[in-house]
Amino acid sequence: MKIILMGPPGSGKGTQASFMASITEVNSVSSGDLFRDNLSRDTELGRMAKTYMDRGKYVPDDVTIGMVMSWIEAPENKKGFVLDGFPRTLLQAESLDDRLGAIGGIDKVILFNVPEPELIKRLAGRILCRKCQTPYHKVFSPPIKQGFCDMCDGELFQRQDDSEAVVRERLSVYTEETSPVIQRYKELGNLIEIDGSLSIEEVEQSLREALE
Ligand code: AMP
Repeated sequence: MKIILMGPPGSGKGTQASFMASITEVNSVSSGDLFRDNLSRDTELGRMAKTYMDRGKYVPDDVTIGMVMSWIEAPENKKGFVLDGFPRTLLQAESLDDRLGAIGGIDKVILFNVPEPELIKRLAGRILCRKCQTPYHKVFSPPIKQGFCDMCDGELFQRQDDSEAVVRERLSVYTEETSPVIQRYKELGNLIEIDGSLSIEEVEQSLREALE
């Protein structure tokens, strides 16, 4: 199974990527996590990506495509994958199609639809585990022990780019650069739209149905 999860920031792709990966028995990857991992290791790629991420802009295509393609080509990801947050531009989508053409292309593209006021509310309260990336929300889904992850006891933190000003910029970049990608998959006939504003359990159910 080769699956793409699309949707604006805060639409629940990250939460559902692990669920999708577990039921389809493949690995999932978030391009944002790959950048943040580079940043935590203080690599040149991470430092460069940060200059875009902090402003809510997309990291240039050549760098992003190279990074995600190396992940896809790793032997452990050959049988399939769930991509969270990639592709986000037409060039990224075309590069992915070129690379996967010989092995049957993408199986499903799932788009999470969530109204903008709900996205802003979700992102303003979002906190993540530094170790395992599990997301929580300060009000809607707080951890049992304040400041620490229920799964691995890792420290929870708020992403710098979840501030309201940067979130607004991320949403506007999404509309401008990612809408054409959505349109493209719509025209190709492999886009499945789901209501991402429902509860986690209801979204999981929609995903199960999307896979059938
Ligand atoms: P995310 O964790 O998906 O919200 O991504 C965080 C940030 O990483 C984005 O705001 C972008 O700066 C960068 N990023 C992640 N994925 C991509 C992508 N496919 N293309 C360009 N930039 C990306």
